[in-house]
Amino acid sequence: TLSDRLTSVLKNLRGKGRLSEADIDATCREIRIALLEADVALPVVRGFIAHVKERAKGAEVSQALNPAQQVVKIVNEELVGVLGGETRRLNLAKTPPTVIMLAGLQGAGKTTLAGKLARWLRAQGHTPLLVACDLQRPNAVTQLEVVGERAGVPVFAPERGNGVGDPVDVARRGVEQARHAQHDVVVIDTAGRLGVDEEMMRQAADIRDAVRPDETLFVVDAMIGQDAVTTAEAFRDGVGFTGVVLTKLDGDARGGAALSVRQVTGQPILFASNGEKLEDFDVFHPDRMASRILGMGDVLTLIEQAEQVFDAQQAEQTAAKIGSGELTLEDFLEQMLAVRRMGPIANLLGMLPGAGQMKDALAQVDERHLDRVQAIIRGMTPAERQDPKIINASRRQRIARGSGVAVSEVNDLVNRFFDARKMMAQMAGRFGLPGAGGRKA
Ligand code: GDP
Ligand code: MG
Repeated sequence: TLSDRLTSVLKNLRGKGRLSEADIDATCREIRIALLEADVALPVVRGFIAHVKERAKGAEVSQALNPAQQVVKIVNEELVGVLGGETRRLNLAKTPPTVIMLAGLQGAGKTTLAGKLARWLRAQGHTPLLVACDLQRPNAVTQLEVVGERAGVPVFAPERGNGVGDPVDVARRGVEQARHAQHDVVVIDTAGRLGVDEEMMRQAADIRDAVRPDETLFVVDAMIGQDAVTTAEAFRDGVGFTGVVLTKLDGDARGGAALSVRQVTGQPILFASNGEKLEDFDVFHPDRMASRILGMGDVLTLIEQAEQVFDAQQAEQTAAKIGSGELTLEDFLEQMLAVRRMGPIANLLGMLPGAGQMKDALAQVDERHLDRVQAIIRGMTPAERQDPKIINASRRQRIARGSGVAVSEVNDLVNRFFDARKMMAQMAGRFGLPGAGGRKA
């Protein structure tokens, strides 16, 4: 797996401080192989790697991760993004019924999916109706009736014994029936062929035109690998679809099809099927698929842990500095930025237990004012941030000029910083933070 192969790269790079071009190239080479092994289409791999390289080269050096880990992290983030980022929800019609049409090759898993989808929709509080429009195979209607029964969802099927029915007519009448019987979602199962052929496409397009679906889901077997791309392109051009469902993810396919189909057609993946039972089904999770494609859930967990440990160390160091009254303006700025990332200060204070006094003091801090504070601290030299005591009158003037504020504002900030530092050290003592009482951690 990729994680095995990357272990050596990861080891070699351990302890290095910077992302060199050679490091990035070496890591990207391994990742490229992993993607190809996962059956991601070559043009997709090329574009992806090029993009990752570009991003890695511009990346800031992380203190928590070594270069290889950092590249892997970027790859993972990009992969999740390319796979759709957030889960795309089903589009429901403003006026029911919502019509969902399934399309795909024979054996892709459409009929099975129809049952899974019906069961899932029911669990979500919908009242689905299944419509049997695969009239090509003798058993197709019965198969849908069986899954419908298991899902506890009714099936609309053509009358038997009149020879071969017309799937377009059945689809139209099925939607009509749903409207009358107040089903809010209709799932239309259609016929597929073993390969892409014109007649199948025409039939699917005719059904589409007859019922104008809110969602047309292209159902594709994840095991078919590279062929997924050509099939998806054919369905995109022949029928058009609004979303993708990947099936048979319980097999050993790496799921590269997902990346290829998503990337080539630009349509999101909505659901994933991973077994023959009705409950083997879930909404599609880009992050899970990304770690499956990369085959390195372990490495990703390690990366996450490394970052958490680093964050925890940072927090502890800051806490120790607070306790011993050694907080610098640098820390102050960092804390402020961290707090800002979490949301407005006022909200945050509301979550702190027993922060009454501090709340009053900080209630006066106005969000807009923080922008100016940030500008002032940024206008200081590293030495000044590290040791604010050296900020004398001439330095204050220079800082004020550089950050476009009045000298009085710089004075104000510096004075308030010293007050805050003192107050925080006292509070730290009361809350038993490490380093409290002047000890150095
Ligand atoms: P259709 O021709 O597109 O309607 O495909 P079917 O729903 O009839 O499925 C074809 C075969 O694949 C059946 O034997 C299903 O049991 C099987 N199948 C469908 N989905 C999955 C899945 O997610 N995992 C596995 N292992 N088998 C599946
Ligand atoms: Mg079928």
